[in-house]
Amino acid sequence: MQLKTILNRVQRYKSFVYGEPRWVDDAPRPTIEVPIEPRANGRPICSGCGRSRPGYDRLKPRRFEFVPLWQIAVLFVYALRRVDCPTCGVVVERVPWSTGKGQLTITYQWFLADWARRLSWKEVAAVFHTTWEHIRSSVRHAVQWGLVHRDLSSVEAIGVDEIQWRRGHHYLTLIYQIDADCRRLLWIGRERTEASLRQGLDVLGTRFCSGLRFVCSDLWQPYLQVLAERAGAAVHVLDRFHIMKKFGEALDEVRAREARQLKRDGYEPVLKHSRWCLLKRPENLTDRQTVKLAELLKYNLQTVRAYLQREDFQRFWQYQSPAWAGRFLDEWCSRVRRSRLEPLKKVARTLVKHRTLLLNWFRAQGALSSGTVEGFNNKAKLTMRKSYGFREYETIELALYHQLGNLPQPEIAHRFC
Ligand SMILES: [Zn+2]
Repeated sequence: MQLKTILNRVQRYKSFVYGEPRWVDDAPRPTIEVPIEPRANGRPICSGCGRSRPGYDRLKPRRFEFVPLWQIAVLFVYALRRVDCPTCGVVVERVPWSTGKGQLTITYQWFLADWARRLSWKEVAAVFHTTWEHIRSSVRHAVQWGLVHRDLSSVEAIGVDEIQWRRGHHYLTLIYQIDADCRRLLWIGRERTEASLRQGLDVLGTRFCSGLRFVCSDLWQPYLQVLAERAGAAVHVLDRFHIMKKFGEALDEVRAREARQLKRDGYEPVLKHSRWCLLKRPENLTDRQTVKLAELLKYNLQTVRAYLQREDFQRFWQYQSPAWAGRFLDEWCSRVRRSRLEPLKKVARTLVKHRTLLLNWFRAQGALSSGTVEGFNNKAKLTMRKSYGFREYETIELALYHQLGNLPQPEIAHRFC
C-alpha cells in the first residue's frame, strides 16, 4: 500500500491531488514531504470572496505540517496560486488544508488541540516535537471555531462565579450553563464588577437572557445587581457552595481571634493545628483530625460554639419545602444573634437580608444540581494551576474555554484523535 492511498483515504481534497512522497535527507528528524498539485481543470478560489477566479501566477512552494505518522513528520508542499479577482484584485488562493496563516494544517491544529485537553500544553509540545506557541495557536483555532458554532438556544440555567487570578486582588468573572443535561463554561471576562458581568451577558445576547429560568450566584453585590436587572424574570438562587464558604470564613475569624486571646492569657495552645479539622466536613477528616476535633469539643470555646452552629446550619439544605426551611432559617438566625460570636452574627445578618433568594434554592430543587458551581470552580482552578507559565490573560481565557467550554468540533477533529 502506498502513502498516497492512505492519505486519500484519511484526508482527501476534492480539487487537489497528492504527488509522490519523498524522504527529506537533511531534516533533523525523519521527515516525509508530500507534494500537492491542483487538478488540471480546477480553477483557484479567491481567498477574499470565496469565488472561483482565473489564475494569475504561482508563489514559491510552501510547507504545511500535517499529522505526523509513526513519529515521522509529514509535510505538505504546495506552491500557492494567486488569482486575478475583479472584486479583490490579485490575491492568494484559498486552500482547504490551511487557514492561510501559520504553517500548521487545519487537521494538525485540531489534532494538537485535542491532545492539549488531555495533557498540559508543554507536554503536548514535547511529545509531538513542536513548540508551545504552536499548541497555543491550535487551541485558539479550536476555541474560535467552537464559539462560533456552539448552540446557545436551550440554556435555561446559569451560574455566575468569580475566581481569583494571579496573586493579589485580580479576579475573573465566569458564566456557566448549569442545566441538568448540559453543563459548560459560557463566558469569561476580567474583573468582577458590574461592567464585567454586563459585558458577558451582552455577548450572550438579549434572547439568551430572556430565556433564562434560573440564575445562580454568590452574595457578591455587583452580580446580584446586574442579574436582577438583566434576568429579572428568572428565579435567582444563592449558591450553597458560596454560602457555606462564608461560614468557613467566619469560623476562621473566630478561631484566629480566640487563639490569640488564649495565647495572651497564657493557656496551653489548644487551638493550635485545629484549623483544618474545624473547616473540613466531619466525614472528610483524617483519623488524627477526628481525635483532635473530639478533644476540642471538650472545651467551652467560642470556636467550638461557632463550629456547632455551622454544623447545625447544614440541616437547612435538607428541607424540601421553602416554608419549613424559612422557619429553620429564622430560628437559627435569632439564636446566633443572641450569641457573642460576632463573625457569625454578620453571616446571620447577610442571610436575613437575602432571605428570599436563599429560599429560592428550594424552589429550584431538581432543576439545578447543587454541586455544579462548586465543581466548575474546582476545575477552573485546576486548569489555571496546570497552566503555570500562562501569565497572559488571553492564554488563561483560551485554556478555560478549551477545557470547560464543551465546545463543538467539526467531524475532522475526531478522525485523528
Ligand atoms: Zn475575490
